[in-house]
Amino acid sequence: MNTLIPSNPSTSTSNISTNSATSTTEPAVTLDQTAEGEWFDPNEPRYCLCNQVSYGDMVACDNEDCPFEWFHYPCVNISSSPKGKWYCPQCSSSMKRRASRKN
Ligand SMILES: [Zn+2]
Ligand SMILES: [Zn+2]
Repeated sequence: MNTLIPSNPSTSTSNISTNSATSTTEPAVTLDQTAEGEWFDPNEPRYCLCNQVSYGDMVACDNEDCPFEWFHYPCVNISSSPKGKWYCPQCSSSMKRRASRKN
């Protein structure tokens, strides 16, 4: 006995839509703003010198006036949580400038 396999009546027409709306335009990073919170994205808070969202291991700067507060480990060249106080490169450099008087 022969079993006749009916051919598919019609292959569904596939509409190929080209999505070309994937242009990533990175905003210019401005580090001049001192008021905290102004450069924060309302949706995703940004941290670190690289101005990126938090991911992986983060370290906090012990300077209360730190504009960033949190930093990615690789961005500050550490691989484990620092012991004691830790200041980010920006704060440590600004503290060196202020520490002009010595006893
Ligand atoms: Zn970073
Ligand atoms: Zn800092």
